Amino acid sequence: RFSTLRLAQTNGPFALEAAFRADTDLRKVNLIIGAYRDDEEKPWHLPSVTEAKRRLELGHSHHEYLPLQGSPKFVEVSKQVLFGPKIVQQQQPFLASIQTVSGTGANSLVAMFLEQKHLRPTNIWLLNLTWINHGDIWKVNAPNVSVQWYPYYNDAKRALDFDAMMETLQRNCLEHDTILFHACAHNPTGRDPSQQQWRELAHLCLKKRLFVIFDSAYQGCASGDLDRDAWAIRHFVSHPSIELAVCQSFSKNLGLYGERVGALHLMVHRSNPNGPNLAKAVQNNLIDLQRACVSMAPLFGSRVASEVLGNEDLQQMWKSDLSTMSGRIRAMRSALRDELLKLQTPGSWDHITEQTGMFSCTGLSKEQVEDLQLKHHIYLLPTGRASMCGVTSTNVSYIARAIHEVVSG
Ligand code: PMP
Repeated sequence: RFSTLRLAQTNGPFALEAAFRADTDLRKVNLIIGAYRDDEEKPWHLPSVTEAKRRLELGHSHHEYLPLQGSPKFVEVSKQVLFGPKIVQQQQPFLASIQTVSGTGANSLVAMFLEQKHLRPTNIWLLNLTWINHGDIWKVNAPNVSVQWYPYYNDAKRALDFDAMMETLQRNCLEHDTILFHACAHNPTGRDPSQQQWRELAHLCLKKRLFVIFDSAYQGCASGDLDRDAWAIRHFVSHPSIELAVCQSFSKNLGLYGERVGALHLMVHRSNPNGPNLAKAVQNNLIDLQRACVSMAPLFGSRVASEVLGNEDLQQMWKSDLSTMSGRIRAMRSALRDELLKLQTPGSWDHITEQTGMFSCTGLSKEQVEDLQLKHHIYLLPTGRASMCGVTSTNVSYIARAIHEVVSG
């Protein structure tokens, strides 16, 4: 028993985090983190969340189980924020929604659902590059669906590889295949399709009859505007025959990383008169599957999220918190680029300010990343992905000088 088991690969970013913590050099900089930091490199408590927690403590909160679908109030407000009131009002009967164990739980549940209960796609088309966990989520939860990779990012051009993406999908996707997109602030490249490119992608999905999954882990973190960051999702919804799911996470935009707050929404065909019955069946089956895995999602975070999203004044505060976070990251992108230009560091660095969201694909090679870590105690992923949350007005010159040194050789 167990004798055939090999050691599992420790998840890369988490192992690097441990190395960072063990590093005693005072100059060390963490550009691995997938969580927002303030200008003092500290986790930030969103004022809207702090106020929501204060209000909740005044009430008589209980610690009972949530219903299997999750908190009804949370599910309602999460739909409103994602789709906007107009779509919710019009498409409500075609929508199945369930609270999940954050974005990871939503991604896992939809993979399981599509494989076991519905559709049974031949392929899931994932982006090359994407969040490090997507491939494993599909392999573990939907082992009979084949994971395929479509080109997304051209490292040499530091840009979206749109033509290659379209060409691969046109040529290879089979009817009922499933395709994954990031709704905004693509992790790790910071490059999203333009509105025109989203339109073309929607047409392709229509033509090929693909089932679409949007992973929405950064709504409000790209532009600072919740509606603008949901544009692609809402555009796809405007095509009644595109069936889609959205994996929604509140880890980043509410700073509730450990509370595991999220939802899965699945929208069936909107011009099918039987759609409302299908949506109910989807909903029941999602509940059934999640029951077997975790019973139901956790209570506390969803209570905080409901308080923030469900009260006009707190929602306004939240919007201003989102501007604070996205604004600081944008400012640090500019500061880093400016420092590199000032130093006349070889290469072009415009991509740092053109990219959006928390991460930057810096274009640094594996060797340069190693040098940064060994010689300068600056930690980023071997792929060259840097979390812009770790850049502050205090360390930005140090980071730029270090990059200059490793790039100049
Ligand atoms: N999707 C993407 C693209 C992500 O970057 C992340 C977090 N890094 C997630 C989903 C899941 O996050 P969580 O489970 O904390 O919501």
